[in-house]
Amino acid sequence: MQQKLLTWFCQHGRHDLPWRQSPTPYDVLVSEFMLQQTTVATIVPRFQDWMNRFPTLEILATASEDEVLSAWQGLGYYARARRLHQVAQAIVTFHQGKIPQDLSTLLKLPGVGPYTASALRAFAFNQPTAVLDTNIVRVIARLHNITEPTDSKKGKEQIALAAQEMLPKKEGYAFASALMDLGAMICTAANPQCKICPLSSNCLAEHPTTLPRKKPKPSITRKKEARLFYQHDDRIYLEQSSGPHWKGLWILPLAVSIHLHKNYLTSITYPITRYRITMKLYRETGTPPKNLHPFSKKELQTLAIPSPHRRAIEKLILLS
Ligand code: SF4
Repeated sequence: MQQKLLTWFCQHGRHDLPWRQSPTPYDVLVSEFMLQQTTVATIVPRFQDWMNRFPTLEILATASEDEVLSAWQGLGYYARARRLHQVAQAIVTFHQGKIPQDLSTLLKLPGVGPYTASALRAFAFNQPTAVLDTNIVRVIARLHNITEPTDSKKGKEQIALAAQEMLPKKEGYAFASALMDLGAMICTAANPQCKICPLSSNCLAEHPTTLPRKKPKPSITRKKEARLFYQHDDRIYLEQSSGPHWKGLWILPLAVSIHLHKNYLTSITYPITRYRITMKLYRETGTPPKNLHPFSKKELQTLAIPSPHRRAIEKLILLS
């Protein structure tokens, strides 16, 4: 099975992904942080921009948080950008700028959990390692007909055991990449192409499209929020978020009172974790509070602003 998979990868794998062009450990580190919760298609055009801006781990480590957050715009989940920045600083400070290879040392780095550590070992250092991303979990669940929910304790244990047993003795990079690509290109969630799958004769899946199973999801909760649009002398006033979402990023300030309803401008809706939030926007003509900062339209272009707020600001500028 390993050989069939590696041969298929050699012929059909996604060798043109930008982080697979003679990747350095730093390339792998950046791509893995970017790929968490963001699609390959979104990352492809952004990866090279990032590398142009922060070509080495040392340059990233010495950049300011504002620069890092600004470069991350549009990728969402900004906590990842902060963690990537922190991990670069920790590697420069404690490991002479070299990403460690050892699993226990990797796991001590800030923001590096079991998944990222295993991905670094496989993709940066070619160590045979079980890398359990969404695509690979799906392939393994189907190959072994694992019907336990893969986000349950029992399901996770079964997947981890099966993944470990499949590992070759070498070629960690190619094997993990091959499984990942098979999941992305052949063993897809909705339409597995079993007829052309190199592993069809090894596969135990009885009903592939029903696998992997998941525990029932918590339902989406709808919420509303009111935010203010201050615009004076062609400058837009924003506040820096103190969290819990978008800490350090620039956002439209919350309205403390809804008596402003007569100044309603527009609204946008966005998802965040298990919430779907409708952001209603109101024009505020009073003096901006001291915690707000004015920005010109040009400055807004490079400012670290979370996507829903950027969308709202662009809509408001068009309306104004
Ligand atoms: S045979 Fe079908 S279900 Fe099994 S691994 Fe291949 S594509 Fe997936």
